[in-house]
Amino acid sequence: MSNEILSKVLDGLRTKINDFNYKNWFQNLNWSYEEPNRVIVKVPSRFARDWLIDHYLELIKFEFFRLTEKEHQLVFKIDRNTNKTLELFPEPGQSEKTDTDAPALPATPVAVQQPVLNNSRAISDLGFNPKYRFDNYVVGQSNQFVHAACQSVACQPARSYNPMFVYGGVGLGKTHLLNAMGLECLKKYPNWRVIYITGEKFTNEVISSIRYGKGYELRKRFRENCDMLLIDDIQFIAGKERTMEEFFHTFNTLYEARKQIVMSSDQLPKNIPNLEERLRSRFSWGLMADIQTPDFETRMAILRKKSEDDNILLPDDVCSFVASHVLNNVRDLEGALVRISAFASLAKLPITLDLAKEVLKNIYTDIKPRLSVEGIQNKVADFYNLKISDLKSKRRHKNLAVPRQIAMYLCKTHLGVSFPEIGHKFGGKDHTTVMHAVKKISKCIDSDSATKADIQNLEKILGVE
Ligand code: ADP
Ligand code: MG
Repeated sequence: MSNEILSKVLDGLRTKINDFNYKNWFQNLNWSYEEPNRVIVKVPSRFARDWLIDHYLELIKFEFFRLTEKEHQLVFKIDRNTNKTLELFPEPGQSEKTDTDAPALPATPVAVQQPVLNNSRAISDLGFNPKYRFDNYVVGQSNQFVHAACQSVACQPARSYNPMFVYGGVGLGKTHLLNAMGLECLKKYPNWRVIYITGEKFTNEVISSIRYGKGYELRKRFRENCDMLLIDDIQFIAGKERTMEEFFHTFNTLYEARKQIVMSSDQLPKNIPNLEERLRSRFSWGLMADIQTPDFETRMAILRKKSEDDNILLPDDVCSFVASHVLNNVRDLEGALVRISAFASLAKLPITLDLAKEVLKNIYTDIKPRLSVEGIQNKVADFYNLKISDLKSKRRHKNLAVPRQIAMYLCKTHLGVSFPEIGHKFGGKDHTTVMHAVKKISKCIDSDSATKADIQNLEKILGVE
């Protein structure tokens, strides 16, 4: 079992680390469980130990956690007899250039304008958005890995994961994270020349450098005067030959000089159409980290954070209403909050659930709350002025039995839940009772116009007509 976990962790690492580093550090790794959740890693030298800790500890721990949902302790032991493949990188001092030290800081202050971090104008002049920082980025299950990786790169550029490729759908926080990385890096290393640019702007700069014969300046800026290049929406350069060519050389120069490269895209490199093969493979050399759509709890946390930051009084029920309607995208979540608060302040009304429903109904007509058995029971009980417990009871009075059967029918037709499951949720009834109910109501729809009208109304209320 423990061996199985170790080998699964390795499989996970293999997908996140480039081939060379994987083979070098992990392929023949000598590790074993000493006791539950405590793994001994044998390494051949102090250097190897420090390297692994510096570069991969967080990632390894994350993989253990991902697989077992338990924190693991990793204990590194130096054992000179351990497989030497871990020493492809020589001990410092044994070669003229030591491993992957972070890019050397420019000896003298560079000629480019240096940011003054508390001066948001200087920051914006460098292309950063001062609003996008780590401290206002909400972390949940969907983005904890990418967040940890971005922080690690921002604090130790060109040491941990290089290049880094962040991918995820629209409005999920790629631009926010790239900005935050740049700002964090500048905070730590104020002399660094950090460039943030979008793929689109980079393309325009290439075009204008060709037009005005300024190729030299362009190359100087991106290849020589750059310690960290953050390039957002890199997919934009796909299909643009000269831009891809320019970026290819920029990438190589920076990579060889051990400068940090971070890219973001809405897709994995292998899925970006019209991207040159040589770029596609380079993009995948380092760490790939995806941002997934936020789960309900993260959506709630984002809404809470944003409303706090903007001094918006957002009651819990409104927060949960918005989080359960705006599902796929943080930008839309923010948009909904802004609309609600603008509407409330213009109308001089407090933010309430009714107000939120009113505001969102026009934009999110297509977004319906996810139906559930409980949701259907709720609406049916409301509709017939009954209690939910009446629907679950065993009483057979017609005034209760028909609504109960209708509710069962709606659950079967719109949720596809099994007969036994419906029976269970209606107070532990037998599945044959549910089958009978569904059959009976299906027939009634054809023969009894009152039942038919009721069902149509209920379907309208449930948003499933
Ligand atoms: P993308 O570049 O992936 O399209 P953005 O970075 O522009 O997305 O994010 C859209 C909006 O959502 C921004 O205003 C950003 O601040 C916000 N946002 C995204 N993810 C988060 C998060 N986890 N916490 C806080 N704000 C977020
Ligand atoms: Mg973006």
